[in-house]
Amino acid sequence: MSRRRILVTSALPYANGSIHLGHLVEYIQTDIWVRFQRMQGHEIHYVGADDTHGTPIMLRAESEGITPEALIERVWHEHKRDFDAFGIGFDNYYTTNSPENRAYCEEIYGSLQAAGLIARRPVEQFFDPVREMFLPDRYIKGECPKCGTKDQYGDSCEACGATYSPTDLVNPYSTVSGATPVRRESEHFFFRLSDPRCEGFLRTYTQQAGHLQPEAANKMLEWLGEPGASKLADWDISRDAPYFGFPIPGTLGSKFFYVWLDAPVGYFGSFANHVANWPAGAAAIDRDHFLKPGHDTELIHFIGKDILYFHALFWPAMLEHAGYRTPTHVFAHGFLTVNGEKMSKSRGTFITAASYIAQGLNPEWLRYYYAAKLNATMEDIDLNLADFCARVNSDLVGKYVNIASRCAGFIGKRFDGRIGTMAHAAPGTPPSLLDDMRAARTTIASLYDAREFGKAMREVMALADRANQYVDQEKPWELAKQPGQEARLHEVCSTALNLFRLLTLYLKPVLPKLAHEVEAFLGIPPLVWGDATSILAPGHVIHPYRHLMQRVDVKQTEALVAANRETMPGATVKPAAAAADAATSAATATATATAKAPAAQVGAAAPGTLTIDEFARVDLRIARIVNAEKVDGADKLVKITLDLGGEQRTVFAGIKSAYAPESLVGRLTVMVANLAPRKMKFGVSEGMILAASGEGPGIFLLSPDDGALPGMKVK
Ligand SMILES: [Zn+2]
Repeated sequence: MSRRRILVTSALPYANGSIHLGHLVEYIQTDIWVRFQRMQGHEIHYVGADDTHGTPIMLRAESEGITPEALIERVWHEHKRDFDAFGIGFDNYYTTNSPENRAYCEEIYGSLQAAGLIARRPVEQFFDPVREMFLPDRYIKGECPKCGTKDQYGDSCEACGATYSPTDLVNPYSTVSGATPVRRESEHFFFRLSDPRCEGFLRTYTQQAGHLQPEAANKMLEWLGEPGASKLADWDISRDAPYFGFPIPGTLGSKFFYVWLDAPVGYFGSFANHVANWPAGAAAIDRDHFLKPGHDTELIHFIGKDILYFHALFWPAMLEHAGYRTPTHVFAHGFLTVNGEKMSKSRGTFITAASYIAQGLNPEWLRYYYAAKLNATMEDIDLNLADFCARVNSDLVGKYVNIASRCAGFIGKRFDGRIGTMAHAAPGTPPSLLDDMRAARTTIASLYDAREFGKAMREVMALADRANQYVDQEKPWELAKQPGQEARLHEVCSTALNLFRLLTLYLKPVLPKLAHEVEAFLGIPPLVWGDATSILAPGHVIHPYRHLMQRVDVKQTEALVAANRETMPGATVKPAAAAADAATSAATATATATAKAPAAQVGAAAPGTLTIDEFARVDLRIARIVNAEKVDGADKLVKITLDLGGEQRTVFAGIKSAYAPESLVGRLTVMVANLAPRKMKFGVSEGMILAASGEGPGIFLLSPDDGALPGMKVK
């Protein structure tokens, strides 16, 4: 087999939010594939970066009172921490806001311009006259032109479902400043995708050489339309200042590259940075061998199906006409659903990577579960949390780890840790198991290579079943009690550990951390694919066995969902006590009074609104729930002890219908800290915690984002 040289990427996460379990489908899929290829001995470079430009980053930084650079720096560290925790082994994790990326963007743009593939045309757009910026559609709201519902986005109405363009909105306003936007014209730059050269190239590229999966190639035919009647439209690649991004050369800082232009180029920027940081003394990598045409290297992008358009049309057409190589493959995957439904913050299934780690769940459980579900198509995959627990416990703990845990102890205690001869040669034992297990390396390898990880896992688990049957049949625990069976015991346990070693090798791309622990326990160098044909030789000494993997408890996944449950969109936020039995909750009356009083007292604000000063009178604080217990004689109340960063408070909240008291302990929430203490039947309530509820059942306690600390002011 010839040595492949491969540059692999995963799509770049936007530097405006946390990594969640939906993102991880792609990073885990890519990482497994990369680790597998590396075990094959191929040269592989896996690079990624944060996608850092655009209006949302600019505005978010502004609202936090920091620079965009400070924002993307902070988010980079959060993303990197999450990737490390899940064993995503990037060779380089970088940022699109880099000098390398800027240089590539300018060069590619210059080449496209020289090739006559950049056009300039005026575009009329909404402009915020107060903030003095053009407004992307998502920053414009107004009344639905059809049903008149207020505060609808510029593309569709949430109330009646009508779709329209932002210009159709009645009484439109800018969500940035609140001002009424005006129509204004500005010159934009376009990549001429409609040029016959691009169309001709894409008709060939998208249909040949397995560049795309079959279903993606068909999708491209739809998008391309009939020959001679191309549906391809030119692509707007510029944005007006102010914008956080790279200025377009020759525009004196008035125009910037649209974030989607510089994001894929960011793959090259990260790779260039990787090459620049390549250790001195190691065989040098020539970056042009991977980025320019005419070399026997591969460029492979793993992406989600939602960004196929960018990666299968714009990106290859740009590269082709700028003198760069085009992607060897674009591998698209489907979306993640949780328990059969779209991820949802109100159901607690919009689960962040950080919360998964914080709840003490093992990242390799998720890696295995995703592997067991993944295939080479763009079908969605479902994380069913009950199935997740069942499969991890049955496959990883019950089948795989079980082999070592039943046999390793005897080798340690009875044979000084020395491996003996294999049952393979002994009369009366089935010689085929070890041979079959070795022979499976070819099938399993081709399944990994084809991204049919689910099928690969089924093959491995079928082999694990057979290894367990062997142990069940030989019963080493009984042999250990029978006089004269020492040799047989040694042979059975040595055979089982050899089978276990092979299973470890096959699972290593999925479970790198566990495989590393097994290698340490077996006293062997890191396993590579070629090791499938060797064995633990008689006389080889292993280390004492320590338990390798815990079972997952259903309670852990329940706690995970509880920790991720957020305010239901559209629900009103009100004091949790309001849901309590009015007779037992003095806080209800207080809350109502607090909310209404300022509006009545201060004439400055219009009816139904309050001034910022009035709002500022409410002292909202982050609090940690340090204790929560039921209250005898009150079925709706929970007695909660809150820590406000040094100071403790007791409140009674009517949330028992939604939360078991013990499930609340440890979490952060938001409290009203300057509510007058109220004497209640069960004690004094020294404040109030906030929760949301809507028309339907359910009470949803508020939580701050990661990083908030007890005592912080909410404003
Ligand atoms: Zn409507």
